[in-house]
Amino acid sequence: MSTRWDRLRAWARRLLLYEIVMSMATTLRHLLFYKPFTVQYPHEKPLLPESFRGMLALLRYDDGTEKCVGCDLCEAACPSRVITVTSAEVPGEPTKRYAKAYTMDMTRCLFCGLCVTACPVDALGMTREYEWSVYDKRDLVLNKQQLLAIGDRAFPAREKRLEFQHLNVAVFNVAFQNHPPKRFEDHPVAQNRSE
Ligand code: SF4
Ligand code: SF4
Repeated sequence: MSTRWDRLRAWARRLLLYEIVMSMATTLRHLLFYKPFTVQYPHEKPLLPESFRGMLALLRYDDGTEKCVGCDLCEAACPSRVITVTSAEVPGEPTKRYAKAYTMDMTRCLFCGLCVTACPVDALGMTREYEWSVYDKRDLVLNKQQLLAIGDRAFPAREKRLEFQHLNVAVFNVAFQNHPPKRFEDHPVAQNRSE
């Protein structure tokens, strides 16, 4: 219930045009003291936050081989059906698979990062690239080679193969040609340890 004092105060505010005066004061303050923060893009680049999620990329190991094992988990995790993976056996290696074809329709991507999280071998990465305007949206349907090229330029520092990261994988390695030795004692990591 409003008191007599409240009613008097409301009446005084109306009489003195309080709201209009305060609004004009705000306008005047902006007029006199406002500092523009317009970024003159593209001549100036905006400062991106640490957690910025840009264009997706496929990654390689330090010897140039593709990390992707064609497991399809990224395709299953994607809520927008951006990713299409065609998986195949590595020729002559029936226990190994790779992505024979890998396509991303970036016109649908939400940049949620679920595919990156789902990948068991860290074969996907989110770069800090954002300048991807095109005249034809079909140019945003990227194939495996394009995605690998993005990964090559965005992540020049590459990981070692899993065999070199985890010794147990090296011991039981039955993988591609030119892989590290299968016997643990012949493995460079084991030799470094014994020195
Ligand atoms: S970032 Fe999200 S929407 Fe984009 S491809 Fe990955 S899972 Fe799909
Ligand atoms: S990118 Fe990762 S999750 Fe997707 S198919 Fe390749 S290995 Fe599997």
